[in-house]
Amino acid sequence: MLRRPRASAGLSLLGAVLCAPGAAAGQQGEPLCGDCQGTGRLKHEHAAAELALEEGAIFCSVFLESDPEALGLDWVPCAKCRTPSLKAAAESEFAAALAPRRAWLEERRKTVDEAVMKKVDHVETAHFVIAFDIPKIAFGKRVLSRHEGMHLYARRMEELHRQILDLHGMTDADTNGVKHHLYLFESQKTAQLAAPRFANRPLSAGTKVSLLGIESHLVSWDDPSVITCDEERHQFLTHAVSHHVHDAVAGRQHWLFQRYGWVYEGLAHYMEVKNFGSPVTWCTAEAGEFAHWQSRNWEANVKRAVAAGEEPAFQDILGKDVGSLSAMDHQFAWSYIDYLLWLDPKKMLPMLQLMTGPQPADRDCLQQAYGLTVGQFVEGWREYVREEYTLKPWQGPMTRSRKGKG
Ligand SMILES: [Zn+2]
Ligand SMILES: [Zn+2]
Ligand SMILES: [Zn+2]
Repeated sequence: MLRRPRASAGLSLLGAVLCAPGAAAGQQGEPLCGDCQGTGRLKHEHAAAELALEEGAIFCSVFLESDPEALGLDWVPCAKCRTPSLKAAAESEFAAALAPRRAWLEERRKTVDEAVMKKVDHVETAHFVIAFDIPKIAFGKRVLSRHEGMHLYARRMEELHRQILDLHGMTDADTNGVKHHLYLFESQKTAQLAAPRFANRPLSAGTKVSLLGIESHLVSWDDPSVITCDEERHQFLTHAVSHHVHDAVAGRQHWLFQRYGWVYEGLAHYMEVKNFGSPVTWCTAEAGEFAHWQSRNWEANVKRAVAAGEEPAFQDILGKDVGSLSAMDHQFAWSYIDYLLWLDPKKMLPMLQLMTGPQPADRDCLQQAYGLTVGQFVEGWREYVREEYTLKPWQGPMTRSRKGKG
């Protein structure tokens, strides 16, 4: 089912706040209650550190379950209220506020925990619903608990979502409104139980399986061949979740990866490079394990190839699905996207909408969204690589000024 992300006004996990002074009063003739000062409600406090951890969460299973009385609300009805009409009103509001929390928790436990045969943690934010079972994460000098690790990833994924939308000048209205469901596990066995249930495919080998589009589900585990530390997991998920966000543009009808593999992978690599540096991951069956063509310095590799006139023909990379892209193709796909986003990031959304909508040929997408013929694109891209790329050693995130921005 298609759901719009909730408006930010509804994002507080605490829900309703205490009534403003004087907002409520009993019926005529009723005694006034000193306990609740005529509101029918009493404050229900949560520790500041707890609230800080929950920031940005709509629901969190740990927070809800740690508070059986109020399921995380910041108020309870005044139990011994002396004003009967206020007591009745507060009790019915309280029941109404608890119901969606209880229903969410029951749904998560039934849908996910039963499928993976263990109790995992769950959180829902504006754009993500995350099931999480990574017991410990070394983060800086600390070791985060499963609950803390889940909120760390919830914040990181929301940050990535915001970054991608900002990059293309998009708002939530430019997306198809799907919530992205992530199932992030440490163990392969747990991921294997989740994969067929949520991503419609078994996870026999590999680190993840994805279902994108009208529904968005990603199941992954801490595959030691890809993920050996928190930073690698973060980069891996940046790549993987980037696919889900870029595939969820308004008007979307078709997958990007089947006909426009260079755009699909190019955008994911772009997000990796922008945030971390040299890419570490790709989504392909045919090219096998991730490997760098030439060296891990993609910018230098592309620059050298262009200088020597040995770059692949753009037309040969177009039209390939993701699985057919070679290790070399990945680097040029990244570079084409790098060029288009440098040229004008706001034209990427119209291009994605063509590619996930009516699906014209690549040349027509470029022409309609960017106003470029294939010849003009290739010429402009070559010039960009010659002018902007360097052969310098490459460490860490790469930032580049936009065209005309100095
Ligand atoms: Zn929590
Ligand atoms: Zn009272
Ligand atoms: Zn990928």
